[in-house]
Amino acid sequence: MKSDYDYVIVGGGLAGASAVEGIRERDAAGSILLIGEEVHLPYDRPPLSKKLWFGKKNVEDIFLHDRAFYDTHGVALALGAAASRLDPAAKRITLAGGATYGYGKLLLATGCKPRHLDIPGGDLDGICYFRDLDDYLHTRGKAAEGKSAVVVGGGFIGSELAAALNINKLDVTMIFPGELLCDRVLPDYLGRAVQQRYQEKGVRILASDKPVSFGNNGNQFVTRTWKGETIASDIVIVGVGVVPDLELARSGGLEVGNGIVVNEYLETSSPDIYAAGDNAFFPYRVLGQAMRIEHWDHALIQGRWAGRNMAGAHEPYTHLPYFFSDLFEFGYEATGEVDSRLETFADWQKENETGVIYYLRDGKVRGVMMCNVWDKVETARELIRKDETVSPEKLRGLIR
Ligand code: NAD
Repeated sequence: MKSDYDYVIVGGGLAGASAVEGIRERDAAGSILLIGEEVHLPYDRPPLSKKLWFGKKNVEDIFLHDRAFYDTHGVALALGAAASRLDPAAKRITLAGGATYGYGKLLLATGCKPRHLDIPGGDLDGICYFRDLDDYLHTRGKAAEGKSAVVVGGGFIGSELAAALNINKLDVTMIFPGELLCDRVLPDYLGRAVQQRYQEKGVRILASDKPVSFGNNGNQFVTRTWKGETIASDIVIVGVGVVPDLELARSGGLEVGNGIVVNEYLETSSPDIYAAGDNAFFPYRVLGQAMRIEHWDHALIQGRWAGRNMAGAHEPYTHLPYFFSDLFEFGYEATGEVDSRLETFADWQKENETGVIYYLRDGKVRGVMMCNVWDKVETARELIRKDETVSPEKLRGLIR
């Protein structure tokens, strides 16, 4: 392996792998090193809590490219390797094992790590803070029909995995501190309807509660909750949010806050170093505010964008990412500021099932959630980009 590369990408997730494509769009020959902490080739994360559980995809299908792609495109891979130190003055990066590499341009696509619960037994062996392919493989191996699972957290991971495990005929108990699941994105009435569906499907819901300890009775995990419940289960999955991985950026003295701070060209505070994906705190042009976004489409497009800019494009990031979820029969695609604290206007074709929810601020559409309405993300983006005051009645029938 060489010791100096034109481009070094730290992070073998979607943003890192997309950056390879972005670089190659503009530079066919520059040498590239991709460093990834996981031993796997870069893969898509959404199927880990969705399609892989429903027989709609196999594990082999989730990889973005096979090894031959990286060979063909002249990309050296250092997988199962954690970068531990960054020296911007010397333009070198050091791996935990001691190897060091020089870079011309560097991308930090280090993503996020799951937040751990600071409670007794919080790091008990076998408790799964669900995030990556190994977590899926571990859980899948234990998730036989008739087994039981405690799912902690009522956000994206909790709601998707509780549905997936119930569909796979496990006995599922969800625990989360809010009154309703997915309360960050769903308006109350919709959260209530979705939650009722979970209960009708047989998911036990312990809302307004949280675990205070995890233990083990020899055969099973034992979860105790703040309200005094004790639940024995074969599996415990935790999805209580993620935190950006900033250690490397900090070691190099880069500006960090709620993420690695980048400008609209995705450049960090240090020359020739870029950041993209879950860990980048960037100016979200369309919404007019700086943000960090933890979704698939954002990592995909921003990673590619950073790659192009590293290879000389110098284009401001203007993408308006979307995200999607599957909660039993209720599926949606959404874009923009989908925040349940905003005023909302719902245009239902079938109440709480099929229709569109508009999220409004000062009379302007900031976000759109399309519930069981598909392939309309571009129309929603145009509406948000218009940035015009609109009366809710004018929105009726706009997206069908
Ligand atoms: P999240 O922020 O969506 O949800 C966190 C949940 O944990 C919330 O329900 C919160 O109330 C709960 N919680 C917080 N403290 C708790 C405690 N002490 N006990 C019990 N519950 C507690 O985060 P997540 O579900 O962990 O997802 C992680 C990341 O993965 C997110 O960035 C998300 O965007 C991403 N993701 C996205 C999708 C999608 O877009 N469809 C799917 C899966 C994961």
